[in-house]
Amino acid sequence: MTKDNTLEQMYTHAKQAQAHAYCPYSKYQVGAALRAKSGEIYTGCNVENASWSVSICAERTALVKALSEGEREFTHLLILTRDGGISCGICRQMLNEFSPDLEIITSNSKGIEVLRRRLSELLPEPFGPTSLQHLAHLDDRTIDDPVDTL
Ligand code: ZN
Repeated sequence: MTKDNTLEQMYTHAKQAQAHAYCPYSKYQVGAALRAKSGEIYTGCNVENASWSVSICAERTALVKALSEGEREFTHLLILTRDGGISCGICRQMLNEFSPDLEIITSNSKGIEVLRRRLSELLPEPFGPTSLQHLAHLDDRTIDDPVDTL
């Protein structure tokens, strides 16, 4: 699989996802295709809600789908909007948790690449897993440890 074919595939997947966008308020359809290190491509669309803060972006939809399938590392993210819009800060933060060097490509509805950047360029000096190293002493806990109760 060549890189161009990969991007072409990702564009096709993003376009299919974009068609499922639920955006009655903004009317701004977004489709995302996230390529995992495994080679699998996960898609997402934006899903708005009458309670606006509950809405989720296409990028995070794709990320959560991939994570729930066991993926943890990602190589490329293609975002498709009518004008080549870029990820919001919340999505950048969530993606940084797993792949700070992720390559992000935005495309407009004509299939023209608008922007290509590493996530590390879009989110300089991020707050990430290493920011919490001072909590390393808690690593001996297991998920089954009882939670302190009042
Ligand atoms: Zn976002």
